[in-house]
Amino acid sequence: MSKPHDYQTKAIILSKTRLAEADRIITFFTPEHGKIAAVAKGVRRPNSRMSGHLEVLDYSHLNLARGHNLDIITGAQTLDSFLPLREDLTRGAYGLYAAEIVNQFAMENLENRELFDLFLKTLERLSYQDNLEIATYYFELHLLKEVGFKPEFKECLSCHRRLGEEESVFNFKSGGTLCAHCAQGKPWSFPLSFGALKVLRMLQDDDYEQVKGLKLEPVTHEIEGALRNYFYYLLEKDIKSASWLDKVKKMP
Ligand SMILES: [Zn+2]
Repeated sequence: MSKPHDYQTKAIILSKTRLAEADRIITFFTPEHGKIAAVAKGVRRPNSRMSGHLEVLDYSHLNLARGHNLDIITGAQTLDSFLPLREDLTRGAYGLYAAEIVNQFAMENLENRELFDLFLKTLERLSYQDNLEIATYYFELHLLKEVGFKPEFKECLSCHRRLGEEESVFNFKSGGTLCAHCAQGKPWSFPLSFGALKVLRMLQDDDYEQVKGLKLEPVTHEIEGALRNYFYYLLEKDIKSASWLDKVKKMP
């Protein structure tokens, strides 16, 4: 959808970078236009009326004007600032991790309402629910679907045999599982126990309400490792906020 000269949108703030003394480039994700980077003028001045509404992870209503290069934010009003993400270090670290992943995968000026809804719901879950790991793995698997990288977890992608109760690997290059036989000698393979594979299938196929109470132990590390490494493979780099998240999770 092309944008009129002046337009309004709901947005979740993904990141901020310094532009000039008091200006910032704000990157945010919208339901209609995908990801947008726009200039917020004067937001570092103490009297700025917009500054408190453009923090990372704020869900805000924005007024914008099309610019030559970047659009200009002319007004901002917070709809939900997800207070628990700001008050609780662990919840906040999960929120920033999710925002970085969206920032990496969302396309500029390309509508993806499903991903927007998933991200908004995820920030609500990370704010108010208890199982932050399940909320995050569910988010990661469903994000992969919305951006065209949904992994296959039912059959071997090489011999097309349906996987039974057996060990397999998640082969990143193929985009899903290979049986132990076909996986031999294949790089970018992450071993999966049958228990981990079952959990991955449930997280991918079931509604959140059905999976939110899943017991992840003893396969938590397998699930986390499989997804982290798949993201590394797809992005060809680490997710920076993952190391902060890991640090926070280890704190007593
Ligand atoms: Zn096979």
